[in-house]
Amino acid sequence: MHMKKYNVLLYYCYTQIEDPEQFRQEHHLLCLELNLRGRIIVAHEGLNGTVSGLPEDCEKYMQYVRSDPRFAGIDFKVDASDVPAFAKLHVRVKSEIVHSSLTHINPRQKTGIHLEPEEFKALKNDPDVVLLDVRSNYEHHVGKFKDAVTLDIENFRDFPDKLNELEQYKDKKIVTYCTGGIKCEKASAYLLEKGFENVYQLHGGIIKYGIEAGGEDFEGKCYVFDNRITVDVNTINPVVVSTCYICSTPCDRMINCANPACNNHVAICEACGWKMDGACSETCQTHPDKRTYDGTGYYQKNTIGYNPYKGLQR
Ligand SMILES: [Zn+2]
Ligand SMILES: [Zn+2]
Repeated sequence: MHMKKYNVLLYYCYTQIEDPEQFRQEHHLLCLELNLRGRIIVAHEGLNGTVSGLPEDCEKYMQYVRSDPRFAGIDFKVDASDVPAFAKLHVRVKSEIVHSSLTHINPRQKTGIHLEPEEFKALKNDPDVVLLDVRSNYEHHVGKFKDAVTLDIENFRDFPDKLNELEQYKDKKIVTYCTGGIKCEKASAYLLEKGFENVYQLHGGIIKYGIEAGGEDFEGKCYVFDNRITVDVNTINPVVVSTCYICSTPCDRMINCANPACNNHVAICEACGWKMDGACSETCQTHPDKRTYDGTGYYQKNTIGYNPYKGLQR
């Protein structure tokens, strides 16, 4: 096994940030000093981010953030990656750290009971438990927990509209889960608000469960919000849920179409990848801008002219 070159951090923290704009400026500078790239959202209600960089820089970043008493309870999910997970750095102020229609909910006051990965692993097969995936279609379509309930939503904002589908589980133990745990903070709180009594949430989400508990019973791949697009989380009993886009054999090797105008994220097997020269169709294969396929299906984003200091001076 080789050492992967980059680390990817995924984290959030609900806490009080008095002056998000000032915090944003300082945080942007910190990330530049540490050569991190990624996406960070700052709000009065807290901090949400995913960044990547060299392991030693990620380590310094975590130490710095944890040294601030406001973030004493922050939980970093640390993953490794062969490719830089982000090409750019964005540090933005928003009204919420994850966009929802649940702005009135403060998870620091009320939220579902947190289950650590090992606790989740022990509880998930309880016949009284319903696993509820609160993520969107494009996410649960590439992977989800075995027997989990999913919702037909394009965006987390639409989660409350699906409450009527969940009424049938009111006397069950509901365990919500998402990628990194942040959506569950409000989703589980919302269920409590609507009269559900036994509501739990997977603390740290699928990612932490994969890292700490081996990902048992997670079928398919976990969608992530960076260049990797999907990651493997299950090392115990993995199941392939998708098929090759070209030849329809079971396959979960995800690549980006080599045609930049398409860039379709599809499952294409090793053999078809070479046969199609990294393209998802014959049209894409003959596209004049088609990129050179090197067998990975990963293409570095063009960052010529990109200035990471952009947005810093006001
Ligand atoms: Zn194939
Ligand atoms: Zn294509």
